[in-house]
Amino acid sequence: MLETSVVDDNYAAEPSAACELDDAIERCGSCSTPVLLRRPNPSSPASAWLCRRCGSVFFARPQEQDGKLVRGVAKPISYHDVMRELNTHLASSPHSVNRHDAMRLVECFANRKFMGTDTRGQQRHIVAAPVTVVPLSGDLRIAAPAERVLTLNVSSGGAALFHARRIPQPYLAIDFTYAGVNLLPVLLETTRVRQIANSYEIAGRFVCRILP
Ligand SMILES: [Zn+2]
Repeated sequence: MLETSVVDDNYAAEPSAACELDDAIERCGSCSTPVLLRRPNPSSPASAWLCRRCGSVFFARPQEQDGKLVRGVAKPISYHDVMRELNTHLASSPHSVNRHDAMRLVECFANRKFMGTDTRGQQRHIVAAPVTVVPLSGDLRIAAPAERVLTLNVSSGGAALFHARRIPQPYLAIDFTYAGVNLLPVLLETTRVRQIANSYEIAGRFVCRILP
């Protein structure tokens, strides 16, 4: 799944490579090698990066200096290759939501009036669609195996998901391919996890698109 490397392996010898950015992801959280990435945002979306030292995958963007890419040990890889690899393991996963239960819950949500303040401020669309989520750590590194969850509702600013177990990671990459929806994958920041019966509602706001 790995592309040919285009990175100068002498990167570590250049002290100027490390710039001070408040959104920087300087080191790989798994192996501590400098990856020199940045947090993405709506105008600079994420793409997939591989730590060549330990094999961790990040959904981030590269650092630039004087218009040139500054690269650490991370190199760009194909999003589709990453997802293909994750889906191989997902096929045998025992955790899945009971679809009948989820549909009933979605109907219940659809009939409920939202009395409190809707912090997302956008109109919510009630949709129950199976999507693939990839749990990410605070440095936007894949931290746990991919899971198949159901969407409860989606707005232009965020989404609520429904899953049989808690997903504790602060970020999720959401891939809509399994639902048959023609949408680019998105990066979601988790803002609320709530237990509902024996399952969990995981809500969050979209950070940016992930470019395939
Ligand atoms: Zn690493």
